[in-house]
Amino acid sequence: MIAKVEPLTSARALRGPFDYRVPGRLEGVDVGSMLVVPFGRQRMLGVVVGLAEHSDVPDERLVEPLTALDPEVPADLVRLGLWVAEEYCSTPARGLGLVLPPGTGRGARPRVSARMMLTAELLTAGRGALLGGGPSLGERQRAALEALRAGPLTAAELSRASGCSHASLRSLAERGLVMLERAEQARRPGASPRVGARVAGEPTLSDAQSHALDAIVGRLDAGDGGHLLLHGVTGSGKTEVYLRAVAAALERGRSAIVLVPEIALTPQTAGRFEERFGPQVAVLHSKLAAGERYDEWLRLRRGEARVCVGPRSAVFAPLPGLGLIVIDEEHDASYKQEQDPRYDARHVAEHRASVEGAVLVAGSATPRPESRLRLERIELPERVDGRGLPPVEVVAMAGVTGALHQRTRDALDQVRARGEKAIVLLNRRGWSNFLSCRVCGRVWQCPHCDVTLVLHRAAGAVTCHHCGHEEGAPSVCPDCGSVSVARHGAGTERLEQELEELVRPLPVFRLDSDAAAGRGAIAAVLERFDRADAGVLVGTQMVAKGHDFPDVTLGVVLDADATLRFPDFRAEERTFALVAQLAGRSGRGSRGGRVIVQALDPHARALRHAAAHDSEGFLEGELERRRLLRYPPFGHLIRVVCSCEEEGPETEAAEAVRAALALDEAAVLGPAPLFRLKGRERSQLVIKAGDRATAVAAVRSAVEGVVAEHGRRGVSFSVDVDPQ
Ligand code: ADP
Ligand code: ZN
Ligand code: ZN
Repeated sequence: MIAKVEPLTSARALRGPFDYRVPGRLEGVDVGSMLVVPFGRQRMLGVVVGLAEHSDVPDERLVEPLTALDPEVPADLVRLGLWVAEEYCSTPARGLGLVLPPGTGRGARPRVSARMMLTAELLTAGRGALLGGGPSLGERQRAALEALRAGPLTAAELSRASGCSHASLRSLAERGLVMLERAEQARRPGASPRVGARVAGEPTLSDAQSHALDAIVGRLDAGDGGHLLLHGVTGSGKTEVYLRAVAAALERGRSAIVLVPEIALTPQTAGRFEERFGPQVAVLHSKLAAGERYDEWLRLRRGEARVCVGPRSAVFAPLPGLGLIVIDEEHDASYKQEQDPRYDARHVAEHRASVEGAVLVAGSATPRPESRLRLERIELPERVDGRGLPPVEVVAMAGVTGALHQRTRDALDQVRARGEKAIVLLNRRGWSNFLSCRVCGRVWQCPHCDVTLVLHRAAGAVTCHHCGHEEGAPSVCPDCGSVSVARHGAGTERLEQELEELVRPLPVFRLDSDAAAGRGAIAAVLERFDRADAGVLVGTQMVAKGHDFPDVTLGVVLDADATLRFPDFRAEERTFALVAQLAGRSGRGSRGGRVIVQALDPHARALRHAAAHDSEGFLEGELERRRLLRYPPFGHLIRVVCSCEEEGPETEAAEAVRAALALDEAAVLGPAPLFRLKGRERSQLVIKAGDRATAVAAVRSAVEGVVAEHGRRGVSFSVDVDPQ
């Protein structure tokens, strides 16, 4: 038998798969087997992507794999990984990398494997010895046997419980009193922290929720998949619908994947699934230790855990019998991976659901135009408690000095006076956006990127938000010696201080990636805000995620139209979602709530619709605009970025790709310069295509052709299909 093996290599040029003869000793080898194979003079790890009876390689040149590794990757996932590679213009090795056990790496030996622990179990003779009559026992040995009466323990646990050393444990085993065995022991991550509103048991579903659940369960029972959009306003109880849908899948002997934007930012959602389904849930997230990730993967692979909750990469969870994929907050940008393979978990989920006959449920209060157009919609038009959505007031900032409008100051003052809670969103970290010299006009810029440095006052530094470059905050201008340095604009750090003065003595909690870095830090801030009787939570878009705090009475968005000033076709969609989502955090309790949106242009379409909680109206206009411009979902975009440390070659490379593109129906925009990033000049092409597969193939061959040409050294190419 011949195994077609795709080597896990980072080299783009290597064209697999390669044929290997499978010897009798490796007869279990199948699609998904991981093999260590000789490759030239090296040994390499590879994945079997196909089997064949015969090979075109002459017999004498065929070689055999060295070994097969445990565990195998499910064949479905191998195909999914290869599909992603093709769909996103990546390489088979990188596509397969997404579906391998965590920690596999590229070397011939995985970096992570199951943890084996020495465990001891009491034997009948051991019980006898405890009752006396048997051979004599030392004090610690007796204590060890006593401890084992309740059940087997690991050697480490036993030594803690009884002080019995490894050596005396071995002597107990030699005397036939205990059995020692090396057994696998799973490393389990701790449960997600508890944040936000508690739910006692399972609530009775509202009519709209029941109706939504029926539609999903109907699809599950029909058994032929289906793609649904659960379009429910904020607070309409979408999570409860997901929970019931997952339960329904489990009852039918199927498994489920629940994708959430980012576990650290939405600990509440993951917590609800753990609470409802206990150890049946495996939670995967980026902050897990390598061993924990590996063991959770194994629990899923073996069917010990039947529900996987996790961020975008969980779409590749190795669950047998997949019946349901839920995508919570489907509008969230984190579903798109920003490194090669630049996959979109929503698109992968649709494909996987179709292939495996699973039902896909994408939920949001602010669905993407793509989803609205293509998925079958189920609506949850009202909040579960029957309360209306909070009134939203958009205030114009033209002519206002300072960060806060008078209306906002008054509203915050009311929160202070009544001892309530507010959430304030400003999507900008740091103290000031940029610094300039009042005398000579020098602006502090990043030496590696064409952007200004942001002042972080507490850290005493100015930093680049694109590459991480950091230098001490200046007190003197190095060009003219002036000590007069002006600070422009306000970020969350400065706003925090301003709010503290305004609402004193209420506490102010800041949530952004500076204030909450490290494992568990975000959840800790959310927990403190949740536990406080009153206070203000201020932060970046992190504060607008699906948090459910019932006692927030005021939501504020500052500089709401800042995102509209980016030259990006998704600017409107993003602005709408951000404002509508923040508005959704307010007024979830008996005291009701309100929202104030500050903007330079209060009449911007995205803001008007968000203020009216009118996502249908927004989507209608947005879809019309996209139809006219042939933007997604009416066309596909592919972005090619060429970059180089020197100025010049990146534009020439982009020109060359453009010239090599064998596409006529597609419009090619560019090359257009992008700002210098991490010391690299950049040039971009955007391809607008009607047919995705044709365009991807054309781009792939054009880029590969240009890469192969000489004289392109030092130029990097990145291809992004469906850029965000
Ligand atoms: P969404 O995700 O749609 O914004 P959530 O799922 O966060 O809404 O639900 C809002 C709140 O309503 C949660 O605290 C949830 O426990 C509660 N809830 C959901 N369904 C019901 C129900 N049928 N009866 C009572 N409370 C419910
Ligand atoms: Zn100066
Ligand atoms: Zn930089």
